Amino acid sequence: MANNEIELVDKYCQKALGLLRRTLLPALPKFYDLFYTYASGTNIELNNKLNDKLSTGDNLTIQFAEGLYSEFLSSNGVEDRLSSVTDEILDSISNIHTTIDKARTNNNNYTEMLDDTVADLKEDNDQETVSKLTIKLLEMTKQVQEANLTLENELASAKSDISSLKDEVDEVRQDSLLDPLTKIDNRKSFDRFLEVAIDSAEESGKSLSLVMIDIDHFKKFNDTWGHQTGDQVLRLVGSTLRSGTREEDLAARYGGEEFALILVDTDLEQACIVAEKIRKSIKNRKLHKRSTNENLGCITVSSGVATFRSGDSAETLVERSDVCLYAAKHAGRNRVINEDHSSIKKQAKVA
Ligand code: GH3
Ligand code: MG
Ligand code: MG
Repeated sequence: MANNEIELVDKYCQKALGLLRRTLLPALPKFYDLFYTYASGTNIELNNKLNDKLSTGDNLTIQFAEGLYSEFLSSNGVEDRLSSVTDEILDSISNIHTTIDKARTNNNNYTEMLDDTVADLKEDNDQETVSKLTIKLLEMTKQVQEANLTLENELASAKSDISSLKDEVDEVRQDSLLDPLTKIDNRKSFDRFLEVAIDSAEESGKSLSLVMIDIDHFKKFNDTWGHQTGDQVLRLVGSTLRSGTREEDLAARYGGEEFALILVDTDLEQACIVAEKIRKSIKNRKLHKRSTNENLGCITVSSGVATFRSGDSAETLVERSDVCLYAAKHAGRNRVINEDHSSIKKQAKVA
């Protein structure tokens, strides 16, 4: 680490500690992490939200700080949840081992006892000894049967434990693909889905389209109404995209105030119809501040639409949609532009 880097880290650390003292939050690692990230200025949205809150002069509550931490830094607690499920699975496996060991010991004892008894029986025994040996044999058999029954029950219960743990792992995996704020798919899910969709379009020859959507003048909206209200708008856009597309399509938050739709088996024309319907539906929503019912006016979005061509990679398809989105912004916002648009073709040639 270079000297100037050490100085920088020290500066962020001092600032984070200063903020912990000033806000009177408990000095937990997560709050230190929050303030250190704030001090480093690497997460603009986090800084905007915290600045908004600090500028009100209100106390920074633990709930608010925890909310920021889980929104920006904890990635849905996925690591914690996965590690607790892993621990439970390991416990369950270790219990099974113990039970199997016990059963094995029982069976070994039983085998030994059988051998001894058979040896005894081979000798010339009187009636009384044979009857004693038979009773002993029956008792041992009963014990082994009971031990096997316990083993069976324990294995059945371990099987059901593991199956519910598997459901939990599936749930955690699902959550790790969701954006915590809007509850629609996140960027990671988008990347995965697009790769698969492109492979499948290449193989099947079916159409596939991509719509990139960006909220217009959202910075101004945030500056006017605050980040919390901005967040409500992001949720609204997310739910409009989800409800405006089919189950087999993907609606994702691509990052910040940018969203994306992956429309399978959908050509450019159909994709533009979907994008246009969504644009109108967002534009026509009259927004109100939840806490005060104050009229917030309307917001609009711009969209760029491109469709899959054989040989496309995720990057080339996203790039063409982005060029269209940029053109939509340039042409005045609140519109959908697709890659067949003549101005785009000219622009693409220039680029
Ligand atoms: P344009 O029409 O050109 O897209 O303008 P814009 O203001 O929307 O674009 P710009 O890139 O200048 O600003 C994006 C804004 O989006 C700034 C940032 O604060 C806001 N933003 C990004 N993520 C979040 C978030 O999670 N919550 C809130 N409330 N705002 C966010
Ligand atoms: Mg924007
Ligand atoms: Mg943007």
